Amino acid sequence: MELLKERILTDGVVKPGNVLKVDSFLNHQMDIDLINEIGREFRRRFPSEKITKILTIESSGIGIACIAAQYFHVPVVFAKKAQSINIDGEIYHTKVESFTHKKVYDVIVSKKFLGPEDHVLVIDDFLANGCALMGLISLIRDAGATIEGAGIVIEKGFQQGGKLIRETGIHLESLAVIDSMTDDSLTFR
Ligand code: 5GP
Repeated sequence: MELLKERILTDGVVKPGNVLKVDSFLNHQMDIDLINEIGREFRRRFPSEKITKILTIESSGIGIACIAAQYFHVPVVFAKKAQSINIDGEIYHTKVESFTHKKVYDVIVSKKFLGPEDHVLVIDDFLANGCALMGLISLIRDAGATIEGAGIVIEKGFQQGGKLIRETGIHLESLAVIDSMTDDSLTFR
C-alpha cells in the first residue's frame, strides 16, 4: 500500500533491536485518515462475506481493528493481556511473548465472544516473530472457529513470523513488508 509505505519512509524511526517506531501516526498518535485507508484496503483484500468477527490483541491493534471493522460491519473482539488468570472454563487462554517488552503475557478471550460458528479475521499493527499472531490463531482454534485470514499493517519480513504463518496456509496480507532496515535506510519487498 503506497500511501502507508510513503508514510513509513517519512515518519518511521528505526530503533535499536529491530524496532520500528511509528508512534507519530499508527500506535500512539493515530492518523485516522491514514488508518481509514488501511481499513478500506483490508476490506479489499478480504472481501469474504463470511467474516463474522475481527480479532485483535490489546492495545495497539484495537484502534486499527475498530476503524477497519466499519468496512466489515462486524464486531471487534480484542484479546486481553491478563495480569492474573483464573482458568474457570469461561475463557480461552494462551501465552504470548511480547516482542517489544520481552515479557510473556497470559492472553485471554471470553468464550461468550468467540465460538464454532464464527469466521474470524485477525488484524494487528505489526508482525515480527509471529508470537502475537500465533497466539490469536490458537485462541481461534480453541474456539473451534474458522480463520478467514490475518491482516497486518507492517510486516518485518526479515523476521520469521510471516514465513511461519504462510507455511500454515493461512491467508496473510501485510500492507507493507519491510525487507531490511538500518538507521538510515529502509527497503520494502
Ligand atoms: P511478534 O509477536 O510478531 O514478534 O510481534 C508483534 C507484536 O509486537 C505487535 O503486536 C507489535 O505490537 C509489537 N511489535 C513488533 N515489532 C514491532 C516494531 O518494530 N515496532 C513496534 N512499534 N511494535 C512492534
